[in-house]
Amino acid sequence: LSPAEVAELRAAFPYFNAPPREDGRTVAYLDAAATSQRPGTVLDAERVFLETANSAVHRGTSGAVGAATAAFEGARAAIAAFVGASTPEQIVWAENATDALNIVALGIGEANAGLGVAGSERYQLGMGDEILVTEAEHHANLIPWQRLAMKTGASLRYIPVREDGTWTLDDAREALNSRTRVFAFAHVSNVTGFVAPVAELAAIAREVGAITVLDACQSVPHIPVDFEALGVDFAAFSGHKMLGPNGIGVLYGRPEALEALPPSRTGGSAITRVTMEAAEFMPPPLRFEPGTQPVSQVVGLGAAVAFSEEVGMRRAAAREHELVTRLVEGIIATPGLRLLGPVDPAERVALAAVSVDGLHAHDVGQFLDEQGVLVRVGHHCAQPLHRALGITSSTRASVHLTTTEDEVDRFLDALRGAQRYFSVEVAA
Ligand code: PMP
Repeated sequence: LSPAEVAELRAAFPYFNAPPREDGRTVAYLDAAATSQRPGTVLDAERVFLETANSAVHRGTSGAVGAATAAFEGARAAIAAFVGASTPEQIVWAENATDALNIVALGIGEANAGLGVAGSERYQLGMGDEILVTEAEHHANLIPWQRLAMKTGASLRYIPVREDGTWTLDDAREALNSRTRVFAFAHVSNVTGFVAPVAELAAIAREVGAITVLDACQSVPHIPVDFEALGVDFAAFSGHKMLGPNGIGVLYGRPEALEALPPSRTGGSAITRVTMEAAEFMPPPLRFEPGTQPVSQVVGLGAAVAFSEEVGMRRAAAREHELVTRLVEGIIATPGLRLLGPVDPAERVALAAVSVDGLHAHDVGQFLDEQGVLVRVGHHCAQPLHRALGITSSTRASVHLTTTEDEVDRFLDALRGAQRYFSVEVAA
């Protein structure tokens, strides 16, 4: 993407056309990893749907319901194609990635509580079985597995991180064994940006008979992703990090994996037959979508995918790689900053977190905010990873296809400014 193309893209986002702040500064938004801004087409798609086509999907026989259902299911097909699912039925709507991961972990819990569906035996877990995660996981891909382990008697094991917060294929090979039943890990770490070798990991997991659950929150918005080619059983991601609305997330599943998973949330519209004693459930995906769904958000997510496809994920990834390289090189060149994660920009995607020697991340964050540089500070929902790195918090800048070189430089300048402002002694 040329500077002119980036400028054109930015013009499509109302957020980036907002007037400067009261202090006269424009905002450098470097927090897309937490939540991304939305193009006008996404905002319009939701508004137009609500103004002209809003009705209860999958309920009733009116033409209006038919049109709304078509929009709702059309978006499902668009997402399926975007992430390499062969059929729209492999896409389940959730509230966000957290919810999508819980659908899997809680579903396996139901299967073990005697509430399975046909094929649920594959999810049998108990004493002696292992659930494997990594020490770098976001809490959303850790706590549901802790709870499942507590419920079933299985052990929760983890691949420890190395000094830079990354882990390797060999580390995973060592940890995966015939007792491993579930292997859950992030495609891209939200702290180190480290990209896991998913296809190789999924193949090893399959060999030992474990299912793979991929946290794809930080990959789907930034690089081309094909879950079928990667060979994972489940994958979860959030609409609001990929130019889409809040309140909508996605669970992808391989057909056999989804079919054997029982629902953990139950109620209206996910069923075929109900008596006073029991219920029979629909096949996926509707089995996992009880109650009224976030229809306008689904439509908005469809528009977000259309926007991303028009730009092209390959082009977006190449552009973001340039930005991340600039970010990483700037951090490495600045004494007193500790870069978390891989030093080689080719091994990371879309973000970089630093620890500033002698400063708490919240002080850094406040200084950056005064400069109009919006980043995320804290533990980024990854406390065990920060603990392993010997720190309590860090400062994370994340880029997106609309980020400019100037914004990256403003972040780097502001970090150096914070060092000066707080008179941090920096060894030359
Ligand atoms: N996993 C990762 C790697 C993330 O970055 C996030 C969002 N910070 C989540 C899971 C949770 O996403 P959400 O809050 O949208 O459910």
